[in-house]
Amino acid sequence: MTHEIAVIPGDGIGQEVVPAAVRVLRATDADLRFVEAEAGDAVAERTGDPLPNATREAVAAADATLLGAAGETAADVILPIRELVGSFANVRPARAYPGVDAVHPDTDLVIVRENTQGVYAGIESEIAPGVTTCTRVITEDASRQIAEFAFEYAAENGHDAVTVVHKANVMRTTDGLFREVAFEVGAEYDLAVEEVLMDAMATHLALDPTQYGVVLTPNLAGDVLSDLAAGLVGGLGLLPSANVGDDGAMFEPVHGTAPDIAGEGIANPAATILSAAMLLEHLGYDGEGARVRDAVETTLEDGPLTPDLGGEAFTDEVADAVIERL
Ligand code: ATP
Repeated sequence: MTHEIAVIPGDGIGQEVVPAAVRVLRATDADLRFVEAEAGDAVAERTGDPLPNATREAVAAADATLLGAAGETAADVILPIRELVGSFANVRPARAYPGVDAVHPDTDLVIVRENTQGVYAGIESEIAPGVTTCTRVITEDASRQIAEFAFEYAAENGHDAVTVVHKANVMRTTDGLFREVAFEVGAEYDLAVEEVLMDAMATHLALDPTQYGVVLTPNLAGDVLSDLAAGLVGGLGLLPSANVGDDGAMFEPVHGTAPDIAGEGIANPAATILSAAMLLEHLGYDGEGARVRDAVETTLEDGPLTPDLGGEAFTDEVADAVIERL
């Protein structure tokens, strides 16, 4: 069965790293059909709309979407796309690759972050002049859905534990529910269920991230801790992410448009190629996904490397090397 992939390079270095990742996808044995679509600042300037209808339709029709980055219009692009695919899970692996200068070279963890609720539910108001409030939403259904996703992910990927991160000692009702449901779901799996308070987790990650594998978090905690984890493994050019939903999935590098280097052809394509590897695995091409990841790993170890990693190679040369190693 052919899978349809919506390809949205977006702005800045998205225009460079996404075509490189698509070349890698084409070099695999996966049966994929690519549909190019526009989003971001450039199309907004031309048409007034950062996410044209044709792009929405392409995302809705696709089995998965590969997105580069959007500049000023990022929120107008990414949030509606997450909604279109019904995304409830943000999956952000933070892995230190050999040959890359990482704070903690043995880090290999995945943050599974609930993607729709908490303080990001968007319920804020000014109830009186100078007095503002934000409503934190945690539901049993959404907590169950993300917990099932995290435990399933852990079981499928050979982990022996899931760490539930929360602040239920203070937010007793909301995080209390998140925690309770996570433990309930965890009891159905042959996996250890561990828990760490979110503030303590920040210290643990900085001191010794190697003790963690799959980390399940509510929305805001996951956002902050995954950026912390990114810092531990050597920077933005290497971090992939997935937004997984009921109606599809969207894969994107964690980095943005990098206007300082856009147009020079020197952006590191690794994060986007690793996002493409996650896309392959999501569609069931596990072997192809692993092959792509291995090829990226060998390339990071043996070169060529882009300037952000101390090399002199262009984006396309790195992609060529990955393809050769496939
Ligand atoms: P945006 O406003 O789109 O988020 P930004 O520059 O604020 O852009 P990033 O795009 O994430 O944020 O870039 C932060 C820094 O990391 C920049 O100096 C950029 O050059 C560098 N960087 C990010 N991604 C890459 C990459 N793929 N290859 C090389 N350098 C990168």
